Amino acid sequence: MFIDTHAHIQMREFDPDRAETLARATAAGIGLMVTVGYHLEASRKAVEAAQRYPQIYAGVGIHPHDAETYDDTAEETLRGLAKQPKVVAIGEAGLDFFRNRAPRATQADAFRRQIRLARELDLPLIVHDRDAHQETMQLLEEEAAHAVLLHCFSGDLTLAEEAWRRGYYLSIAGPVTYPKNETLREIVRKARTDRLLLETDCPYLPPQAFRGQRNEPAHLLHTAQEVARLLGVPLTELGRLTTENARRLFRLPPAG
Ligand SMILES: [Zn+2]
Repeated sequence: MFIDTHAHIQMREFDPDRAETLARATAAGIGLMVTVGYHLEASRKAVEAAQRYPQIYAGVGIHPHDAETYDDTAEETLRGLAKQPKVVAIGEAGLDFFRNRAPRATQADAFRRQIRLARELDLPLIVHDRDAHQETMQLLEEEAAHAVLLHCFSGDLTLAEEAWRRGYYLSIAGPVTYPKNETLREIVRKARTDRLLLETDCPYLPPQAFRGQRNEPAHLLHTAQEVARLLGVPLTELGRLTTENARRLFRLPPAG
């Protein structure tokens, strides 16, 4: 059994066949997933999906692309959403210095405020970091973030080691299957396995076998197979340990 710790199943890309997509996930052994918000409307939809489907939990937050929408009113809305049943995290929040859709200072401000919100609500924080590794790590330290998940980890081994030292969780996505991504495979080989998580980030970032197509939770299995191979553990053992990690971080109820 596996948990997809970062999906966007609430997106309109899944409107035509959401139920079938979820059935394929179940058939592939993806027992639970966290569907993650990236602005207020997507966060609302994530909460609705969690209320509707037993296997879905939700994260609520504002992505750096939408950092300019983060104000007191937005924060109050997030705070309310975060208190709904089955909301298990704040996020995704962070810094994106690749696309720079919002000014960097604005991104930093929205990120700081969501780190504080996660602390206030005692929820884990799902962090998006694209080409902003040093700044992301600095803000997390300055704001004394706890229970941090670096989603779709894209840093180098030095950054991963610093994250492990701080007790952060690293989530591995489809790019670990991409031929050029030896850096990420090296990190997985050396991973602190009590901080290892798996995700699809669907509909984005399909594993190599599905490149160019819409990604979905069932494809997590391809990422899992590669990670198990790199660690030299059976797939069932990887499922056991990553599920335990996800349950600990998100405080999910025990199986059964
Ligand atoms: Zn995402």
